[in-house]
Amino acid sequence: METRFLLGEKQIPTHWYNVIPDMPGPLAPVIHPGTLKPVTPADMLPLFPGALLEQEMSPERWIRIPDEVRDVYRLWRPTPLHRAHRLEAALKTPAHIYYKYEGVSPAGSHKPNTAVPQAFYNQQAGTKRIATETGAGQWGSSMAMACSMFGLACTVYMVRVSYQQKPYRKSMMHLWGAEVIPSPSDRTRSGRKILEQDPRSPGSLGIAISEAVEDAATHDDAKYALGSVLNHVLLHQTVIGQEAKEQMKLAGEYPDVVIGCHGGGSNFSGLAFPFLADKAAGKEVRILAIEPSSCPSLTKGIYAFDFGDTAEVAPIAKMYTLGHDFIPPGIHAGGLRYHGAAPLVSQLVHAGIIEARAAPQLACFEAAVQFSRAEGIIPAPESSHAIRGAVDEALRAKEEGKERVILFNLSGHGHVDMTAYDDYFAGRLEDFEYPSEKVAESLRRLPKVAV
Ligand SMILES: *Cc1c(COP(=O)(O)O)cnc(C)c1O
Repeated sequence: METRFLLGEKQIPTHWYNVIPDMPGPLAPVIHPGTLKPVTPADMLPLFPGALLEQEMSPERWIRIPDEVRDVYRLWRPTPLHRAHRLEAALKTPAHIYYKYEGVSPAGSHKPNTAVPQAFYNQQAGTKRIATETGAGQWGSSMAMACSMFGLACTVYMVRVSYQQKPYRKSMMHLWGAEVIPSPSDRTRSGRKILEQDPRSPGSLGIAISEAVEDAATHDDAKYALGSVLNHVLLHQTVIGQEAKEQMKLAGEYPDVVIGCHGGGSNFSGLAFPFLADKAAGKEVRILAIEPSSCPSLTKGIYAFDFGDTAEVAPIAKMYTLGHDFIPPGIHAGGLRYHGAAPLVSQLVHAGIIEARAAPQLACFEAAVQFSRAEGIIPAPESSHAIRGAVDEALRAKEEGKERVILFNLSGHGHVDMTAYDDYFAGRLEDFEYPSEKVAESLRRLPKVAV
């Protein structure tokens, strides 16, 4: 009874899979927040190196992974695929449950899969420093690690309330040599403007994005980096699904359903897109994104053009959105609190090729605890949403008496998120259904884009 399906270093994928040629139609243009016209590469060059902008729109199905990037991937890739025998037994389900475990990376999540190539392409382009933002710190710590490996300086604007309440990822960023600045800060115009109005502002991801973008745009040697949502980020994450396909072959099975948690869309797409390629070629496989019911962009948002950030400085993209001034409640899965969704995932959901479902946080923690007690690994609160989705599919298989094969992405471990589990056990967590009226209100402030 094999439990882990392992690949050798030579089997680290040599290419990333680009889903763009397999999309059900042309991509919607990305719109400039100032002119409300489609952005040009020249608009974006102050923020991103040319190689990443090319990947953003590339029509090539396979994009070669540079050797320098694969050499860093060797430190933790290929990641293991586990068969959850003990969870299956606990659930008394006939389903076969598999999970791809991305928590074995140095930063503890899938995020270094894209932080490393982003740092590499910036180094190649002569960038000296990366400015970025972070909420709970998963992205900031991944980018700090990647920058340290390619000799880049790293400035992380960290949402002030997280900076104060979540000290350990800040410590990780320091260890990897990054400068961490609580946001809003007096370093940028957008930060100073917020501080004038409210000197004790707790900050938000939207404000931190505005500060990092402004920092990069106003310094010639600095560029910006984003940890999710953009096409090139999803592209880099496809190493996950490509490895998983090889590992499912070792297990002698093919999934009936592929599941990932969805915040901005990167870990979900990383696992799902390589299977989507099979689906596009006629194979039968369901693909399911699980989001928190407190921030339900895919299931309650509308498919429209909206700003990427609160301050309306980031580009406008067509995506499922709850409105750019939507303020999600303070749930523990910090990485899933984004008002929008990846444009690629949005288009696939809109076309009915991908399914989306929302899950409340208490049910997710319940599934995470059940998983930990069977499998040992402590999941990140974000990943618990994928576990909930997998457990529900397994229980349905039991009801129907079917032998379903389920594959999900365990996007990270929860070792630095134990406050969330403490709060869960102390009964301090609540479920939030975001009120539809509030969503409707935010949606009234969408930009008026005519394309
Ligand atoms: C950031 C994060 C997520 C959410 O981001 P996606 O881009 O939707 O993947 C999920 N899981 C973990 C562990 C994360 O760190």
